[in-house]
Amino acid sequence: MPLYESIDFLPKTSPITTRRLKSLGINTYWDLINFFPFRYEDYSIISPIAFVQEGERVTIQGKITQSQNIFTRSGLRIQKIVITDSTGSIESQWFNQSYLTKLLHPDLYVSISGEAKTMGKKMVLFPKDYELCNELTKSKTKHTGRIVPVYSEKNGLSTKTIREKIWGVLNDLETDEIAEFLPKDIVFYNELLDEMTAYQNIHFPATMSYAERARKRISFDELFIMQFSSRLIKKEWENEIAGNLFHIDVPVKKRLEHFIKHLPFRLTKAQERAINEILTDLKRTRPMNRFLQGEVGSGKTVIAAIASYCSYLNGSQSLFMAPTEILAEQHFKTITGLFNSKSHIQNNKAPKIILITGSIKPSIKEVKNADIIIGTHALIQKSVSFSRVGLVVIDEQHRFGVTQRKELKNKGLHPHLLTMTATPIPRTVMLTLYGELDMSVLDEMPIGRLPIKTYFIPKRKRQDCYQWIKKQINGKHIQVYIICPLIEESEAETLQSIRAVKKEYHHLKDEIFKDHSIGLLHGKLPSKEKRQVMDDFNRKKYDILVATPVVEVGIDVPNATIMIIEGAERFGLAQLHQLRGRVGRGSQQSYCFAFSENEDASISKRLSYFSKTQDGNSLAQKDLELRGPGNLYGVEQHGYMELKVASLSDYGLIEKTRKAVDYFTKHCELKNFKELEKRVEKLKVEQISKD
Ligand code: ADP
Ligand code: MG
Repeated sequence: MPLYESIDFLPKTSPITTRRLKSLGINTYWDLINFFPFRYEDYSIISPIAFVQEGERVTIQGKITQSQNIFTRSGLRIQKIVITDSTGSIESQWFNQSYLTKLLHPDLYVSISGEAKTMGKKMVLFPKDYELCNELTKSKTKHTGRIVPVYSEKNGLSTKTIREKIWGVLNDLETDEIAEFLPKDIVFYNELLDEMTAYQNIHFPATMSYAERARKRISFDELFIMQFSSRLIKKEWENEIAGNLFHIDVPVKKRLEHFIKHLPFRLTKAQERAINEILTDLKRTRPMNRFLQGEVGSGKTVIAAIASYCSYLNGSQSLFMAPTEILAEQHFKTITGLFNSKSHIQNNKAPKIILITGSIKPSIKEVKNADIIIGTHALIQKSVSFSRVGLVVIDEQHRFGVTQRKELKNKGLHPHLLTMTATPIPRTVMLTLYGELDMSVLDEMPIGRLPIKTYFIPKRKRQDCYQWIKKQINGKHIQVYIICPLIEESEAETLQSIRAVKKEYHHLKDEIFKDHSIGLLHGKLPSKEKRQVMDDFNRKKYDILVATPVVEVGIDVPNATIMIIEGAERFGLAQLHQLRGRVGRGSQQSYCFAFSENEDASISKRLSYFSKTQDGNSLAQKDLELRGPGNLYGVEQHGYMELKVASLSDYGLIEKTRKAVDYFTKHCELKNFKELEKRVEKLKVEQISKD
């Protein structure tokens, strides 16, 4: 069976089923057998009927000797089927499935799995699943009499249908049709099952321990291919040549140093380290591909400004892309500010900085003459010519520039690339998913920053908290953010959340904070209004800003020192941490209150952990443990989780696969491993189609 062919020709399959499978992204036989069960049910005990015990989960097999529909007085219909083998008979009961008596009629041979219970004096088998089978080949059952895989039921597909189809494909495979793609040494050294056995056993395991080993093998495959392909990308990148080469000679160095020396603050050690790493990259002929990770407030912007200055000193332009217009404007202000002070630009020759947004559209000439161009991620989609672009900075973007890099390449540009994020991503995740990037970490905050005092506020303390906040506003004239959760799974949910935010806004305005001015900011506002609201808040027109998490990324209002997070239980820890980072920007003590109406113990435990922990990486790590990598903030949001079986918290396996990749790179040649080549190619296609 050609594994990579379309499922259009699956035997005995209705077009509806085929369509439903396709809606799950299952297009080929290979996709189908890569749809894995999320658990198993053990019905492997096949018991002679006479020996079935109360409470036992068993399979019985025998001839149907009676089959009838019974109507009860309460209007229920019960299907009673009696099965007999050489040791005795047992009754099995279904409810309201009258068609069953037509399907399961006397003289047929049937295999039924279920749970046995005594009813009155007799034993009854409450069925979980059944299948008709041939008395002679009964050992080949798929839904009963074995460890049965359970698949998640989506888009109208039942686990039974999925099981049926996968069974069909696996049974039609020739021996070794799922080819071994790893070198024998690696398989042997890591004690892996061979591919064929692994696929058979992840779906229809011979024993639970085989299911385990199959899972391990397939996880190994996933992690191996992922890391191997990052390695290839990295190698490819190494052979590229930057479109505009930079020279960091003595005069350039001097001017950079001069600029740094005259900044309004002293750089932290971590910032200095990051800058050195960046400058080392910029000296090379291959384009930089660096990822700068640092807590909110750790001072990434100034690093980007220094890199842009270097680009300017080399006669190149820099593009600076932020995720939202508000942030783009803020960066524009900050960066203009950094270059404005005449004292720190030698010869008074400061770079020309422009902003491009929906409403601010500089002329082609202005763009052409600009040295630093700031805008949103839409910048590179603009038809403006950017042939002078030597550096691209991407701020707070979760996809880490995968898409942008492709777009830049399509335009024939090969700039240096600096991607920045405050999203704390555990190192293992980083290495596995984005191994092709070089990484700089700002693990140190500028001095004098006070930790944000964080409290988990249960329902009963809410009013006290409001009172306290009022006093703070009145006494210290500080400002407050109130963040409401936003669910954005679908348009309907978004609208619903917006309604909830508006309701909360009116409630706060008309009841709780009657004597204060309150602004409202949510993602669905036209960008002009958003800007207006932000500006007004910045100019202290409002004491309080009620907002959806749009304020999450990068807003900088130093006078806002209190944040309330409503429905805090609905956010992940890392995301809470990012939100909290909007306060604590000035020198005043800041506060964050995590509100939750939900009294569930696990929730208060999680939120208490948040209130006690200031370090974003620990919080991200905890998220990983509590909610699994699929929910890891950022990763989840952008659907970049391609792992189906492997877990990013399985450090042991990640380490093993990394070593295997090292081994392969050292001892093997990809061209001799056609199957691996194919799989890597497939991953690439999948990633691109997800962009
Ligand atoms: P983020 O890393 O979250 O983007 P920013 O670059 O916005 O952080 O910096 C946060 C604030 O800290 C800004 O007001 C910036 O001017 C200031 N800052 C940056 N570096 C330092 C430093 N070394 N010492 C003091 N303040 C700094
Ligand atoms: Mg920032």
